[in-house]
Amino acid sequence: MGTPLESHTEQAEEVVDRLEEAYPDSTISLRYSNRLELLIAVILSAQCTDERVNKETKKLFEKYDGAEDYANAPQDELAEDLNSITYYNSKAEYIRTSCEIILEEHDGEVPDTMDELTELSGVGRKTANVVLQHGHDVVEGIVVDTHVQRLSRRLGLTEEKRPEAIEQELMEIVPEGYWQQFTHLCIDHGRAICDARNPDCADCVLADICPSEKGDGEIDLASGEPW
Ligand code: SF4
Repeated sequence: MGTPLESHTEQAEEVVDRLEEAYPDSTISLRYSNRLELLIAVILSAQCTDERVNKETKKLFEKYDGAEDYANAPQDELAEDLNSITYYNSKAEYIRTSCEIILEEHDGEVPDTMDELTELSGVGRKTANVVLQHGHDVVEGIVVDTHVQRLSRRLGLTEEKRPEAIEQELMEIVPEGYWQQFTHLCIDHGRAICDARNPDCADCVLADICPSEKGDGEIDLASGEPW
């Protein structure tokens, strides 16, 4: 078990520093070439791997060009084009409906505010944050996905469980200039070392400051259960 730094702010800054050194090229792994493709890729990535989404969108983005194409697509056909993605029927519906709203209310452009984005179908705060950050260069919050949720709890940065509550706590302790990068660093570290089932604490750059470290630690703070 490592010893976290005295304050949550110091702990968050140290985590960012060390992970930045470990993952200097950390960035979004979804592929897209414009804002609408970004929005669609992020909608599709809910409970699905980025790798799978990238494979599917390669064909999708060749077939459909712009909000009108998606809005006018028959539901069955669009769903069929997404059939290797989890919840593809619902996601096809979200994409069609969102594109209708984009056409009717936003002149065919992906909106650039949190309120307007979260009014689109299937778009919650997490999806909206990703689109704002990577599509519009607007950083209003911290994207809390499953990796950010797990690592923040394991590292003692928060005891909250809901993503919205975790985001609020993180926004108070992660330096604002790192709000966007914090997510990518957690995702890279979560994939490479600190995975959900069997984190490789022996090879972790955060081990000495991590209260969940398995060496002689007893509890995985992410789940609250013993290792
Ligand atoms: S790999 Fe282990 S030491 Fe590193 S952050 Fe995860 S739980 Fe902590």
